Amino acid sequence: MTDASRQEIIIGNWKMYHTVDSSLAFLKAFIPLVQHTPVEIYLAVPFTSIGPMAELAKDTRICIGAQNMHDASQGAFTGEIAAKMLLEIGARFVIIGHSERRRLFHEDNAFINRKMRRALIDGIQPVLCIGETLEERENGQTEQVIRTQLTECLADLPLDKLPNAILAYEPVWAIGTHQPATPEMAQAVHHQCRTLLTEICGDDVAQKMPILYGGSIKPDNAATFLDQIDVDGLLVGGASLTPETFSQIVNCRSPSEMKSQKE
Ligand code: PEP
Repeated sequence: MTDASRQEIIIGNWKMYHTVDSSLAFLKAFIPLVQHTPVEIYLAVPFTSIGPMAELAKDTRICIGAQNMHDASQGAFTGEIAAKMLLEIGARFVIIGHSERRRLFHEDNAFINRKMRRALIDGIQPVLCIGETLEERENGQTEQVIRTQLTECLADLPLDKLPNAILAYEPVWAIGTHQPATPEMAQAVHHQCRTLLTEICGDDVAQKMPILYGGSIKPDNAATFLDQIDVDGLLVGGASLTPETFSQIVNCRSPSEMKSQKE
């Protein structure tokens, strides 16, 4: 199987921005702007916006999802949300292990691994985020950090369900800093991820799982990342918040520029 078999995916991560009203206004303006794109569009939105947005997006190719969930199916976890609750209101995917969750809410690889298992078992598509800090990169530890994160976050997961997961490489130092990695840096780590996925989960999973790059993507740099052979899509924070900038990123791909034509 070649990389041409993997669909390109562009995910917007809204973080804690947009009320229900402004989410719906975004979507109404955004839908007509992206009608002809060949890429899959995912929007990870605040919990309160999921239901109304999923309803409005139901006849479009836009997939609405969440930014976090708990690993238990239910229980005494005040303030948390379960996969089944997200599915019930129309979420089809969930971001797991975003660096802001790791750093600000002390999520570790073991917890992220349990969330991955729950997401796969309950049938919500997980987007696993990994990436090194600036200090780790400067100390030459990127490869080791990625290896540890992948090994621990993917440990003992159901292999038949794993090809449905998405991996996002997001160098922590590039998130929200206006300092993206270079496309070549991203390609090098994505290639390493693909090799590690083969080691940890086997070749089938490694070939099928899309690997997205995230970190200061803007309309003017999106295509150069997508042109890399192991970059199967993008995870976009700040630039996904307005219909204008996010549609420009999504529309940087025309059908003739898809990866199958790149080889
Ligand atoms: C993110 O939130 O995952 C992200 C990549 O943010 P930004 O695009 O703003 O760097």
